[in-house]
Amino acid sequence: MVFVFLGAPGSGKGTQSKLLAKKFHLIHLSTGDILREQKNSELGKVAHQYIVKGELVPDDIMIDLVTEKITAVKKDKIILDGFPRTKVQAESFHTLLQQKNIDLKKVIYFSINKESLVKRLLGRIVDQNTGEIYHKEHNPPPSLNSKDLFCRSDDEPQKINVRLSVYEKETMPTIDYYREKKILLEIDANKSIDEVYQDLVKNLFPS
Ligand code: AMP
Repeated sequence: MVFVFLGAPGSGKGTQSKLLAKKFHLIHLSTGDILREQKNSELGKVAHQYIVKGELVPDDIMIDLVTEKITAVKKDKIILDGFPRTKVQAESFHTLLQQKNIDLKKVIYFSINKESLVKRLLGRIVDQNTGEIYHKEHNPPPSLNSKDLFCRSDDEPQKINVRLSVYEKETMPTIDYYREKKILLEIDANKSIDEVYQDLVKNLFPS
């Protein structure tokens, strides 16, 4: 069973995926995290050239990567965070799920206004040891001086602009694709971390 989390960079998909995965024992597959972890492999080096520019990694690379990961964990409950991000990826993913007989439970669209996104991305910091995501002001880490904290190289103003326009051009049509299939659940991602979490729990894991 798979939940897909879609939304603009900075909409909170990663933060919410981590919280839900921990609470409900789900496997969290973030394609962005997987690519960043592969820094030293051939795939990682190719992907890095796109990531640093704020561009999308080519569809064929992403489809192969996700096919490999899904095949390895197919019996589990999965949150797929950041894939599919283009219509081509969504169509291939559809075929993959059919072949593997995996149920796409829901696609969650994290809807948020552009102003909030830019503020979130500019203040984002990540702990390289734990993968924990923080914000300098709204969700600060226990200590701002820890040497494990870093700002992502694609969270610079110019790259944020590229990522947001790529999102509008490539990912918005993917969201429409799932809306037409009637499996899209839109949530208001402008709310606080806790409020968004409660909305997701209520909708995805009703008691
Ligand atoms: P994220 O951590 O989800 O913001 O992803 C960081 C970067 O990884 C993106 O800006 C892309 O360069 C790349 N990436 C992650 N997922 C995908 C995907 N599904 N398709 C293409 N590129 C991706």
